[in-house]
Amino acid sequence: MDGNQRMIAWSAEWALIGGVVACTGCMQSQPISKAEEPFPHDPSCAGKDEVASKPWAELHQILDEERG
Ligand SMILES: [Zn+2]
Repeated sequence: MDGNQRMIAWSAEWALIGGVVACTGCMQSQPISKAEEPFPHDPSCAGKDEVASKPWAELHQILDEERG
């Protein structure tokens, strides 16, 4: 996947709302200050085992690879 495809995949799973990233599966959220902690999904979240455990870190990696 190139950076654009990875960004599309990321934004299907996550939403940036104000200063937090939210899971589109359960709408739980995490501020960037907790970027190094595993994302606190709702226990009933259907997607929690299929998405990255650290969405901020994944976003950072996508940007890093695109921008060098
Ligand atoms: Zn979730």
